[in-house]
Amino acid sequence: MAYDDQNIFAKILRGEASAFKVYEDEFSLAFMDVMPQVDGHTLVIPKDATESLHQADPGILARTIVNVQKVADAVKEAFDSPGIMIAQLNGQAAGQTVFHLHFHVLPRKDGLDASMHAREMADFAVLEDHAARIRAVI
Ligand code: 5GP
Repeated sequence: MAYDDQNIFAKILRGEASAFKVYEDEFSLAFMDVMPQVDGHTLVIPKDATESLHQADPGILARTIVNVQKVADAVKEAFDSPGIMIAQLNGQAAGQTVFHLHFHVLPRKDGLDASMHAREMADFAVLEDHAARIRAVI
């Protein structure tokens, strides 16, 4: 499947759609998931137009995973979370719904179940507050 530059993350990268950003550098962008599975659910994406892990340039992937670590550290601190889950889905059969490579960063704690997909849009004021908490420690 060819990369579709009309996907929502491509639009966020071009500034055509808004996002609650927590971190950005030359290679990647991190922002709050708009339908979070748990509080603090953050996405990290490469700026490169890459559909999934399988097409990723290894150098860009390496840069991205370093930023996944950076964001995961900040989310852990901001949400005082004992555990962090990283999820990354490739292909419709795996549950991928946005076809621009992305890593989910999910704070976890005992007894808190996170489903694979959330369906409810979060309150934007809450998302901005969560983004600010992460930005403050990144
Ligand atoms: P996937 O299912 O492809 O692994 O994950 C896509 C994620 O993107 C989902 O968790 C979904 O909630 C999130 N998402 C979908 N549309 C938007 C959007 O417009 N803005 C943001 N920030 N996240 C989105």
